[in-house]
Amino acid sequence: MNTGILYIVPTPIGHLGDITVRAQQVLAEVDVVAAEDTRHSRVLMDHLGINTPLMAIHEHNERQKAEGLVTQLLAGKKIALISDAGTPLISDPGFPLVRACRQAGVQVVALPGACAAITALSASGLPTDRFVFCGFLPAKEQARETALEDCVSERGTLVFYEAPRRILSTLKAVMKIFGKECEVVMAREITKQFETYLTGPVAEVLAQVEADSNQQRGEIVLLIAGAPAATDAIPHEASQLLSRLTTELPPKKAAKIVAEHYQLRANDLYKAYLATQQQS
Ligand code: SAM
Repeated sequence: MNTGILYIVPTPIGHLGDITVRAQQVLAEVDVVAAEDTRHSRVLMDHLGINTPLMAIHEHNERQKAEGLVTQLLAGKKIALISDAGTPLISDPGFPLVRACRQAGVQVVALPGACAAITALSASGLPTDRFVFCGFLPAKEQARETALEDCVSERGTLVFYEAPRRILSTLKAVMKIFGKECEVVMAREITKQFETYLTGPVAEVLAQVEADSNQQRGEIVLLIAGAPAATDAIPHEASQLLSRLTTELPPKKAAKIVAEHYQLRANDLYKAYLATQQQS
């Protein structure tokens, strides 16, 4: 079946020079651009000198709008989907539309381009061979801690989006759940004038953010190093003692005692313990 095409078009996350040549061609050629916020995207389109009509598709109407857009696509129209910044669908609207297109047999073409998570990961110095994109953490404290606990034994680098007003409390929660030695990277204002990467143990990064209110502004990607390979780094006797002690003591306390005895990091032991629990 010959249908139209839905193009997924990334837009800059700060630096306007990060729009690709192909993205500009597609935005200029399609019949309509479906945008998260048409007023916001009009500024970008004007900057690019493109006057393709815009229509709004955002988290509150995307389910209803998807049906109408699929009908237009099935009739042969070409539509570009953009969000306020970065790659649509990545913590942004678009999933119901793409899903509906796939179900209806509409061709979907995604253009590569700016994405804060991938940009931060590539510059973070943390392992990139395996990573988990977790989007935004829940706003409420208890739910946020639970979400972090779910990630403690994850081996890949963890990538979160975070709002500046929550960064202090999130770093404190990370320290509580992962331990103060846990390695983090806070990537802020990527591609913009005040781009900063703070790296190191979470306790140190937290101290820097507390000491400098500028670090509590702007847009933030927070990355957390994945758990070490559960068993290879930890001597067998230490694992055995830990497993014995956890029958009598809370796991965090048991990990602390074993760490002191074998001169290991309590956090590594605790993560290893959690990993074995998940495997069993
Ligand atoms: N779709 C976007 C993408 O591809 O990255 C993400 C949209 S999400 C609604 C917005 C969040 O992405 C921000 O709150 C921040 O966590 C992150 N973000 C976006 N631009 C950023 C930037 N220039 N520097 C750091 N983080 C950024």
